[in-house]
This record gives sequence, structure tokens and C-alpha cells, in this order.
Amino acid sequence: MAQMTSQQIEKNAVTMVAALMAAGSRTAPKTRGIDSTASLFLEGDDLEKLALAMERKADIKPDYLATFRRDAKNVRKSACVLLIGVTGEPKKIEQPLDCGACGYASCEHLAKARKKMPPRDFGGPVCMFQAMDLGIALGSAVKLAADLCIDNRIMYTIGAAAKDLGLLDSDVIMGIPLSISGKSPYFDRG
Ligand code: SF4
Repeated sequence: MAQMTSQQIEKNAVTMVAALMAAGSRTAPKTRGIDSTASLFLEGDDLEKLALAMERKADIKPDYLATFRRDAKNVRKSACVLLIGVTGEPKKIEQPLDCGACGYASCEHLAKARKKMPPRDFGGPVCMFQAMDLGIALGSAVKLAADLCIDNRIMYTIGAAAKDLGLLDSDVIMGIPLSISGKSPYFDRG
């Protein structure tokens, strides 16, 4: 008779859900029919590398020190992390929308500004449509996790550290840690 411990079966479950979330972020609708999103799954030793990078960010962002350190502790308690990112270039620059939502006079102006800005937590400025795609992809992913009863939370702090580590070739990255335990580590954190 084959047996699996609850730890083994829960590890399989959380890995499977992360894979489905990555797939859901890919099939989520994308504006203008162009997909500039990417995702990456992290577990094991890579979680500790990520947590250490978050703590390094805490040292250079003193106003957010507690937030980065708290979220790094959450990463260490997680089974895995899914990163989802997007690049920020204007879509279809050959047929520019020039909508103005980014604050620039045209898509061309935003594209030129992107070459001058040094990256901080993220690279920018970004086209509003790319940011919208990232939001829809994140929403699709976390809805799936929530529907399947896997604890999760979208974290800016993970994304900022992942960007420092060069884990995804994206301008803006968000991280979604996943956990299966008796109480979600991501809420009521004090
Ligand atoms: S947000 Fe900016 S770059 Fe994007 S379509 Fe509108 S004007 Fe162009």
C-alpha cells in the first residue's frame, strides 16, 4: 500500500497550485493582444536567497525596514514563491495609442524617458497598459490559489528584492508566497 505523509501531499499540492497560477497568469487577458508578462517559481534554497535580499533592501530603505524584514520572515515560512513580472514598454509603438495615462505626451515620449531613468525598486516609467496586464495576471493567479484554499499574498517587497537579484527580465515584479498550514502566516502579522 502506497502512503504519503501530509507534508508530502501538501508539498505536491502547493507546487501544483503554483504551476496552475503561472498558467493562469499566462492565459489572463492582455491589452492590445500583446503579452509581456513572465513568471518564475522559487522553492528550497532560493527562498533563503530571496529573504536575504529582502533584508538587504530593508537596510537601504529605513522607512520600510520593518515591512521588508516582516515579509522576509514570511518567505522563510512559505512552501514556495511565484514571481510575476512585466516589462513596461509602450505596446504597438508603430500604432501608438498616445492615451496620456502615463503622464507623457505620447508613447514615443515614454519610450525615450525609459532609457534615461535609473532603476530603483523597479524600472520605469511603464505604460499603463502593461501595468494593467500585470494587475490582471496577479488577480487571476491569487484568485485561483484562494479558490483552492492555498494561503497567499501579493508582496511588493518580494518583487523589489527579486528585481535586485535579476530573477526575471521584467521592469516590475510582484511576489506571491504560498503556504499550507493551520493558520495563514500572511495576515494578522502584528
Ligand atoms: S500609457 Fe503612455 S505609453 Fe501607454 S499607451 Fe498611453 S501614452 Fe502610450
